[in-house]
Amino acid sequence: MLVLGIESSCDETAAALVTADRTIVAQAIASQDADHAPFGGVVPEIAARAHAERLTPMIGRVLAEAGITLADCDAIAATAGPGLIGGVMVGLVTAKALAMAGDKPLLAVNHLEGHALSPRLADPALAFPYALLLVSGGHCQLLRVDGVGHYARIATTIDDALGEAFDKTAKILGLGFPGGPAVERHAAIGDAHAVPLPRPLFGSAEPHFSFAGLKSAVLRAHDSGRHATADIAASFQQAAIDCLLDRTRRGLAGMGAVRALVVAGGVASNRAVRVALEGLAAEQGLRFVAPPAALCTDNAAMIAWAGIERLQAGFTPDPLDISARPRWPLDPAAEPVRGAGV
Ligand code: ATP
Ligand code: MG
Ligand code: FE
Repeated sequence: MLVLGIESSCDETAAALVTADRTIVAQAIASQDADHAPFGGVVPEIAARAHAERLTPMIGRVLAEAGITLADCDAIAATAGPGLIGGVMVGLVTAKALAMAGDKPLLAVNHLEGHALSPRLADPALAFPYALLLVSGGHCQLLRVDGVGHYARIATTIDDALGEAFDKTAKILGLGFPGGPAVERHAAIGDAHAVPLPRPLFGSAEPHFSFAGLKSAVLRAHDSGRHATADIAASFQQAAIDCLLDRTRRGLAGMGAVRALVVAGGVASNRAVRVALEGLAAEQGLRFVAPPAALCTDNAAMIAWAGIERLQAGFTPDPLDISARPRWPLDPAAEPVRGAGV
């Protein structure tokens, strides 16, 4: 089985061809970092236009690189949400057009399901159920993954996502956009104990996450003019990791038996975060699985793979009139937590 995957939910335009035996036959990713950098964050309108310009030629290049045509694909999978609606619509409409033109099944994939199942693309031995820490630009959630399409949310952030906290910290410190990798680089040369910063919700009974107070403390530390940038970055990263570990440990305690602790999403590409979570998994007697960094940040291989997993699990393809969804929780039963993102 060979599936074409399309991703356009935020600021990466991506296309990939993936087979059921876990081979990424060809893929391409165009980052829009340079388009958004002058604005210090993703501008939805600019993102949608950039996806519209780049996606179709990119799909042509990926097919050419693989030496195949649309006729050789068994299905077209595209992110249908959650994300910036303009970008999601560009990808989904393109997938619909290809599905219609080639008479192929359409798979409308939840972007978060792409992140959630991406570790299984990288690791064939990863079996259900597993604990998934999804840490990205828009989400910070602990889920129990019981199978394809079966996700139970255990915890979520009550304010900012972890990637958002990295991005805001980078902005405060003047490190540019995108922020996560820049904060990590500066943190590597700073003193993590130099700046006293709060650990929001540390030790609280509910397993939820909170990072807004940490970001505000970073702003105060920066404005005081008393600390080096690298020290603030290192102290921020350490505080964030301390919270992540404490909250995840609490969540795991109430989750029931799982086989592994899995981390996915853009922040999972952070080396210090991975090392810390690996330690937590060892402490809990769990296998630790983290996909390669390129599969953690947004990509189309994970969308194609989620499509393959859905077909193999017996889910039927989606109708051509399916709508893009700006919000789309992985666990529809999960209640919003104090107005937090789903
Ligand atoms: P979502 O998946 O929730 O819709 P998104 O698609 O924007 O959001 P991803 O592409 O999965 O998110 O991740 C991007 C986020 O990951 C950004 O917030 C970015 O700062 C963060 N990130 C990327 N690399 C690193 C890193 N090395 N250290 C910390 N954070 C990082
Ligand atoms: Mg991005
Ligand atoms: Fe993402």
